[in-house]
Amino acid sequence: MEAWTYKRLMDADASYVAGGTLLRTQWEAGEADVPRHLIDITTIPGLRGIEKLESGLIVGAATTLGACRRDARIARYFPALTAALRSIASPAVRNLGTIGGNVVSRTGDSLPALMACRAELEWNTGFSPMTEEATEWAERLQEQMPKASHLLVRIRLPIVTPSEVSPLRFSYFRKVGRREAFVPSLVTVALCGGARADGTVSDVAIAVGGGRTIPHRLTGAEKLLKGRKVDAELLRDVHQAVVKGYRPAPDPFATEAYRKQTAANLVVAELRERLGESGKGDAG
Ligand SMILES: Cc1cc2nc3c(=O)[nH]c(=O)nc-3n(C[C@H](O)[C@H](O)[C@H](O)COP(=O)(O)OP(=O)(O)OC[C@H]3O[C@@H](n4cnc5c(N)ncnc54)[C@H](O)[C@@H]3O)c2cc1C
Repeated sequence: MEAWTYKRLMDADASYVAGGTLLRTQWEAGEADVPRHLIDITTIPGLRGIEKLESGLIVGAATTLGACRRDARIARYFPALTAALRSIASPAVRNLGTIGGNVVSRTGDSLPALMACRAELEWNTGFSPMTEEATEWAERLQEQMPKASHLLVRIRLPIVTPSEVSPLRFSYFRKVGRREAFVPSLVTVALCGGARADGTVSDVAIAVGGGRTIPHRLTGAEKLLKGRKVDAELLRDVHQAVVKGYRPAPDPFATEAYRKQTAANLVVAELRERLGESGKGDAG
């Protein structure tokens, strides 16, 4: 509350700072002015650490990317998120940079994975706490910047365990850049869902991002998959739906057509591997 009050009072003269890894890059590149005041949020009680409740994991927004990446519970229940965290920068940057800073940056590589895992974001808006799905928040970003005074407090990750209707759980993240590691993304794809024992998709969420793209869900492809068994014809339709639904922001190094094709190939290859004739899912 104190941090929020200072931010409201000082407005553009102040900025929240967590790891400072992105802010420093923006200042050095002349993309943002250095504010007169920095409000350090890393010492606020409750903003750091990971807790497991019955319903899911609660991740403090100021928890470092490194701590999240090493957490065995995130790796167990949300392997797509662990894969996304592993793909961000280098260990040194991950030990300073936070998951909250990554989300608020709007184009952080963890965001598509959080959206596919149906994560919820809990904000301090000063008046009352506000919780919304990461997907809803990202949708609003397509039209407006996030409110600079809103403080991301924690991220809720609902655990979905294998059940009778969905015994096979699958979870996937892939980042494609111009080289294998320590590279900005061109395309990111995250996919989480479940299927019945016979391979019929019970639920699926697909999110895409990459570069300066604000991540978005591919609802057209998701709708095609729900309630269907994966076969060659369905995969052809899903491929087209990904090409149609993915809206990558312009990138100086790769064309829109290349990035759409890449995203579609990744989604289809993963679905074929997991749910095609020989697919098995994450848990049986
Ligand atoms: C060399 C290098 C490589 C990088 N590679 C990648 C990469 O591969 N993928 C990637 O996604 N990112 C990458 N980044 C960007 C950055 O490291 C990450 O996005 C990191 O997670 C940012 O977190 P931070 O705590 O350092 O944010 P900060 O720099 O402290 O803050 C970033 C922004 O978020 C705001 N903010 C921070 N926390 C909160 C909060 N809780 N509530 C509200 N606002 C908040 C700040 O005011 C600021 O506007 C890289 C950075 C560097 C320097």
